[in-house]
Amino acid sequence: MRGQTVLILGGGVGGVGGVVAANALRRRLDRRHRIVVVDREPTFALAASFLPDHQITRAEVGRVTFTDGTTVDFDLLVHVPPIAPPLALRGSRVVDETGWVRVDRHSLETAYPGVYAVGDVTLIPLAMGKPLPRAGVFAHAQAEAVARNIAASVAGKERAARFDGRGACFVETGDGRAGFGSGDFYAEPRPAVRMRRPAWYWHAGKVLFEKQVMWGWL
Ligand SMILES: Cc1cc2nc3c(=O)[nH]c(=O)nc-3n(C[C@H](O)[C@H](O)[C@H](O)COP(=O)(O)OP(=O)(O)OC[C@H]3O[C@@H](n4cnc5c(N)ncnc54)[C@H](O)[C@@H]3O)c2cc1C
Repeated sequence: MRGQTVLILGGGVGGVGGVVAANALRRRLDRRHRIVVVDREPTFALAASFLPDHQITRAEVGRVTFTDGTTVDFDLLVHVPPIAPPLALRGSRVVDETGWVRVDRHSLETAYPGVYAVGDVTLIPLAMGKPLPRAGVFAHAQAEAVARNIAASVAGKERAARFDGRGACFVETGDGRAGFGSGDFYAEPRPAVRMRRPAWYWHAGKVLFEKQVMWGWL
């Protein structure tokens, strides 16, 4: 059988979907087969050919073309679509020209007093020029801070809770292993984030974490 090419477009800077797939495929397919990850930025693609700074301009059966004119032929294409603001907020005065909701980075209050936004719908610029990544860990912490402040407000107390930009994330790499990243995303001039190498105990930690969260909800 001839070697085949699996092309993954949009690996994800956080190394989530696309890169997990790339690493898991690399372990399962022999070296005759190519796995190519394409992204605008570096990712955690440890085990695949990687084309950074590439943006697609055209896709057709068996081939994609990039802005610099290069092409990659593929047998299977895995495409991770870009994240976009929700349609429900289009045209709303709460969003800015980008379509996302601008909030105070600590209180999550919008330009409208008493109106808050948390999670993926927000746009929180960081000193490095990029927004705070959209992640459940931040949505969760933001929601806790906002809930505390709304409760304080209702009770006539001071709104003292603040979201501090700290967060952690398990990064599944397949085969029962995960990496772990944690840090202060509000640190300047760049987020201070530490990555731990993939190991079985981070995967076990993720399983336990998920169970703990589910037990808390049920
Ligand atoms: C594959 C994948 C893996 C991820 N892994 C991680 C991870 O490991 N760690 C991590 O921290 N984050 C992870 N994330 C990101 C995380 O899932 C999001 O950041 C998080 O869910 C954002 O929470 P949210 O409440 O802002 O939005 P959502 O969870 O998207 O919730 C929005 C809700 O609004 C509802 N909704 C939308 N439109 C309307 C409407 N018009 N009317 C009523 N309801 C509406 C939707 O149905 C949805 O329930 C991952 C995301 C993906 C896609």
